[in-house]
Amino acid sequence: MSAAQPFSALESRDHTLDACFLGPYGENDALLERLIVEFLRDHVYWRRNFHPEDPPAIATGAAQHPDYLAFESRMRRELHLLSAALKKSVPFHSPRYIGHMASDLLLPGLAAQILTLPYNPNNVSEDAAPVTVDMEVQVGLQLARMLGYPHDPVQPACAFGHLTSGGTLANYQALRLALALKAFPVALRAARVPQLELPPDDWSAFNLSHADGIAVLEAWQTWLAAQPPTERAHWLKRVDDERVEQRGLVGFFAAHPQLRVPLVLAPVTAHYSWSKGLKLLGLGRDQLELLPTRGMRLDPSALRGTLERCVRIRQPVLMCVAVLGSTEYGTIDPIDEVLAARTEAQAHGLGFSVHVDAAWGGYLATLFRNENGTLRRREEVATEYVQFPTPAVHAAFAALGDTDSATVDPHKLGYLPYGTGAFICRDHRAMALLAERADYVFHTSTPSDYLARYRSLGQFIPEGSKAGAAAAAAYVTHKVLPLDHRHFGRLPRATIRAAEAFYARAQRFALDLADCVHALVPFAPDSNLVCLALNPRGNTSLAGANAFVGALHDTLRCDPGQPLQLKEFFGSVTSLRPEELGLVETARILNALGLDLATLNHDGENRRLLILRHTLMNPYLIDHENGISYIDRYFEFLGRRVQSLTVTDASRPTLIRKAGIG
Ligand SMILES: *Cc1c(COP(=O)(O)O)cnc(C)c1O
Repeated sequence: MSAAQPFSALESRDHTLDACFLGPYGENDALLERLIVEFLRDHVYWRRNFHPEDPPAIATGAAQHPDYLAFESRMRRELHLLSAALKKSVPFHSPRYIGHMASDLLLPGLAAQILTLPYNPNNVSEDAAPVTVDMEVQVGLQLARMLGYPHDPVQPACAFGHLTSGGTLANYQALRLALALKAFPVALRAARVPQLELPPDDWSAFNLSHADGIAVLEAWQTWLAAQPPTERAHWLKRVDDERVEQRGLVGFFAAHPQLRVPLVLAPVTAHYSWSKGLKLLGLGRDQLELLPTRGMRLDPSALRGTLERCVRIRQPVLMCVAVLGSTEYGTIDPIDEVLAARTEAQAHGLGFSVHVDAAWGGYLATLFRNENGTLRRREEVATEYVQFPTPAVHAAFAALGDTDSATVDPHKLGYLPYGTGAFICRDHRAMALLAERADYVFHTSTPSDYLARYRSLGQFIPEGSKAGAAAAAAYVTHKVLPLDHRHFGRLPRATIRAAEAFYARAQRFALDLADCVHALVPFAPDSNLVCLALNPRGNTSLAGANAFVGALHDTLRCDPGQPLQLKEFFGSVTSLRPEELGLVETARILNALGLDLATLNHDGENRRLLILRHTLMNPYLIDHENGISYIDRYFEFLGRRVQSLTVTDASRPTLIRKAGIG
């Protein structure tokens, strides 16, 4: 039964979404079951048809043997125990789950993954994955197109992308590639390769632009190819011996005393995978310089200041990271401004890569992409929303195509199973430098050359063996829902609309509960992550506010000690740290919450403000079938919790007792 439509035409129902997921209630169970059974049978026939003349190796009556039966019963028992234990899992599928970056799984991806699993392809190379390794390379091209990178493998400067276990490893791959490309011209100089036009000194060799670095690499390859075989081997070894990959950071920088170890610049909002990446690469966390933000978006003037300092003291920069959808706040860095600052720095002889960490926000790029691959104008996109996209957000997405590399997590807003991150670089020619064995095939002239080259995927990626099923899932999903606004874009559209509804509802909540609580969305959301800061009225201390939000979060957090059904909603928390936020913003937010800035400690628990964080990626937050808004229900729930935590007392109207601080 359809209830009367309580929602505006803007939020009209999208029937395609009905078929996309198993659904909060398991509505599409019959469809998924049919698919799984059909393709499992298909797999069995495939086994039988390999050599049908080979008789069954397991006897037809084997299933009656006591040992068989004992094994089966042990297996069943353990599977039942597993299945029972999994009932305590986090209900990512439910619109009551607005905690972390997880939601339901897209049916095409889930079905493709399940169907591929029994074939067990290993995408380390074509020998182990004749089908899915090509799919992985195609996924790279699909994502490249979504981002606005060149994606035609006939073109020499085509992009390349591959899957990783997640965004963390994709970010690490970006660091590896940037370092390889930056250090290579220095190695060529050190090897004294004749006849090559190389920069005059190590500083300029270490600071070539991305394009110039690739041009030097190509010139070297062309020169090398023209040498007689014995000469070629000699020069190859000579250059390899000078490379940072051979010498290691210690040996490389000892050999080039005029070069300092380069910095990696990232906004303070950057994910902690960047710290891991610098540790893993051996650069060390000291080389990660975190830049201040404005409203949790990288501050371009601070970036310019840092770059000017680097030019002045001859401090090389490996890469500047811009975040497209920060993990904690969903904010979007001004990628266009980062690119402009890079151009200016390059003019002063400071060259570095620009990488976009779009682990969270990558798939939002579908909203800006026409079916023919062109960019949609802001005005056109904006017709579908209340405020999205701001001019700054549109400019950030429009600039994506000019960055050097990007991380996108299909296991986040791509709604695919875990174990699926992606690294994409704009110009695949740099990848030769990551190859484990010397790789000197350069000029690709046909898509099949390009594919052939990357079939030895294990040569280029940080991992070795890797699930081909993940590639199949991503490939099939992107074919069923192409990465443009008309197809895949329906999913992020629903979530951005939900975030706008959430934002509006949060403001109404703040008014409705103004008597007992100060509530504030600290930053107007750029995407589909919305935070809420709260402080009970009458409380002025940070300790009090944190205890209050902590108590609210206790009812929203995963608690394996309790039956799942007792939980009404799942949310998460994050914190605002003055050293990241800056004093002006901190003062603005604390003032609006009625908090005394003096209660901010510089050490201990209360040097940060705890806030609620909501990830709005469930496509059914607004249930058109039943006329239910889970957003309304959440705020009704939150209102009840807030009221029960703020106990009214005749003398002090809003003394907080239940939160443990009254
Ligand atoms: C999630 C996330 C990562 C890390 O990705 P994993 O898939 O968890 O390894 C990196 N950067 C950002 C911005 C993220 O949101």
